Amino acid sequence: MKPNISITKVGESKVDALDFNNIPLGTTFTDHMFICDYENGEWTNPRIVPMGLIPTHPAAMALHYGQAIFEGMKAYKDAEGEPMLFRPEQNAKRLNLSADRMGMPNVPEDLFVDGLKELVSLEHNWIPPHQGSALYLRPFMYADEPFIGMRAATHYKFIIMASPAGPFFSKRIKLWAEKQFIRAATGGTGEAKAAGNYAAAIRPTELAKAKGYDQVLWLDATEHKYIQEVGTMNIFFKINGEFITPELDGSVLHGITRASVIEMLRAMNYSVTERKITIDEIKKASRNGMLEEAFGTGTAVGIAYIQEIGLENETIHVSDESPVGLEVNDTLNAIKTGQLEDRFGWMTKVEKELV
Ligand SMILES: *Cc1c(COP(=O)(O)O)cnc(C)c1O
Repeated sequence: MKPNISITKVGESKVDALDFNNIPLGTTFTDHMFICDYENGEWTNPRIVPMGLIPTHPAAMALHYGQAIFEGMKAYKDAEGEPMLFRPEQNAKRLNLSADRMGMPNVPEDLFVDGLKELVSLEHNWIPPHQGSALYLRPFMYADEPFIGMRAATHYKFIIMASPAGPFFSKRIKLWAEKQFIRAATGGTGEAKAAGNYAAAIRPTELAKAKGYDQVLWLDATEHKYIQEVGTMNIFFKINGEFITPELDGSVLHGITRASVIEMLRAMNYSVTERKITIDEIKKASRNGMLEEAFGTGTAVGIAYIQEIGLENETIHVSDESPVGLEVNDTLNAIKTGQLEDRFGWMTKVEKELV
């Protein structure tokens, strides 16, 4: 174990009180969290402490000016019960991409990965054993300097918390193609996992839900015709045998599931193109019977199948006849849980701490 992370353990773990067959979504947290402070230009005092409240000054800059970014990833167990992380260095890189855009300091990749490993090692009993379940990890950074005024903060906190998550039942979802509100514009913050992006998406998502849809399908900010992505997922279409996903043009989140799915599809000899794609092209493909499948990709759900896309005056129906995505999802899950050989070199093992 890395010597420079100090550890203060709880007296008694709460894990025994958790029913792994019935995990409340997003409200259960493990015993500990990892914290690190940024001051005087460097990260100091990395520590694992009991999960609890953090005193916050009312002028903490994140609350006013929104310097707040996050990551999302999962820890799994392999067949022998050994904890594993899926591509954690990719999350470290993306956190720093977000940090750069938001004028926040970078977190050294090994601090990020060591903090994760140490926390998962200590909390390995919280990784749900059931197929499809995992320990969700939420690394995040925010400006905690008390200051009124517009500039980059000089004090930040980097925290990792962990929350067990049950299997996600992925029914086919319905998307609402949004032509009034936008998520991200060229030159904006769309490719940062910045808290404010999600704040701006809440109301449009609620309106879409009120119309009977599950999520918003975001279109470009200027012409409202180029497809960007969905809620917290990237999107893939299969048209006439070929997979297409919107290119990373600065307004689309660099999904790690997206990158992994592209690699897997290519390894299966499918052609995958990253390019601009319009909602009209999807409409036409559906009419001609060439829209063979459509799915969203993200850490939370893996692959979510899309059933239909609602537009102002019509509905685009997606076929479900040859779902290659289901096969990709099964393969991805089998790699993450050590049931299939890690042939892409994606998994990082974590040593279990003897508690
Ligand atoms: C997190 C996120 C994704 C998916 O990223 P993964 O690394 O695959 O989990 C896609 N779009 C948005 C907007 C996101 O916030």
